[in-house]
Amino acid sequence: MPVNNMSNTDSDVIRRKADLHIHSFFSDGAYSPIEILEQAKQLNLCAISITDHDNINACLVARNYAIELGIEYIAGVELSTYYNNADLHLLGYFFDYENPELNQYMDFLQEERKQRAKKIIDRLFQNGIKIDFDCVLKKAYPGSVGRPHIADVMVEAGGVSDYQSAFNKYIGDHCPCYEPKYLITPREAIQLISNAGGLSFIAHPGLDIDQQKLIELIDSGVDGVETVHPRHSPQQTKHFRKLIDKFNLLESGGSDCHGIRKKESLMGKLTVPYYIVVKMKQIVAQKHHLLNRK
Ligand code: AMP
Ligand code: FE
Ligand code: FE
Ligand code: ZN
Repeated sequence: MPVNNMSNTDSDVIRRKADLHIHSFFSDGAYSPIEILEQAKQLNLCAISITDHDNINACLVARNYAIELGIEYIAGVELSTYYNNADLHLLGYFFDYENPELNQYMDFLQEERKQRAKKIIDRLFQNGIKIDFDCVLKKAYPGSVGRPHIADVMVEAGGVSDYQSAFNKYIGDHCPCYEPKYLITPREAIQLISNAGGLSFIAHPGLDIDQQKLIELIDSGVDGVETVHPRHSPQQTKHFRKLIDKFNLLESGGSDCHGIRKKESLMGKLTVPYYIVVKMKQIVAQKHHLLNRK
């Protein structure tokens, strides 16, 4: 649409900014949902989603506080799935965070992550590094336990010189102390999100997915693709936008901000226009309408 033909509302949804990929301390982010929303307010973001790894505990508190601040909060999650022998991340949005099936699955994953952390700690011990499970749990509190927390404790215990060395030498993929996670297939994850009334997106496809895999994943029924991500080049973003047009899919995007854990806070540095959220909401409304007619 030509810019001069736009109504105030049209230009507003283009001018207003959203960040739909943020991690809180409920996974491996540094900030609480309250702190994230306060930053979002300062940065003038009109909508955000907290997409913790395999954890939806941010949803309730974030929704309530977002109402107070006048920010739109979108329920979100980043699910780890398993596809062609590799870890593949799927983003879920707009689901009912009280959905029993989804909550049961999240509880199950929290427990699985604890068991996996224990196995990694055992392997570290066999490789000469002694760290305490309770310290790792404390580090992760109140969120789900992951390798970033193990890496932090390894540094504190003096087993490695820095966070990155922990991954490079011990706990990174294909390293001696790596332990896989319990992973569902993308199709199962898409179904789980869809049953809870939400939409699924392939997260950061530019990182680790080749074109053929991407097309196969699109066939598994995702609603969209994350086009904007800090590790996507402008060319990749353009390419993924063409792809979603071709397959009539939705677009998502955001900063993948983990707070200061990853040296600087990326929130506000990478955003998407609010019309992306408007489009998502139109599709969610259509889905709910169809479900109610069944
Ligand atoms: P987990 O879900 O426990 O497997 O941990 C995954 C997280 O660990 C990712 O989201 C990253 O934050 C971090 N991570 C994974 N691999 C590396 C790596 N090679 N270097 C630094 N961080 C990593
Ligand atoms: Fe992460
Ligand atoms: Fe991810
Ligand atoms: Zn992420």
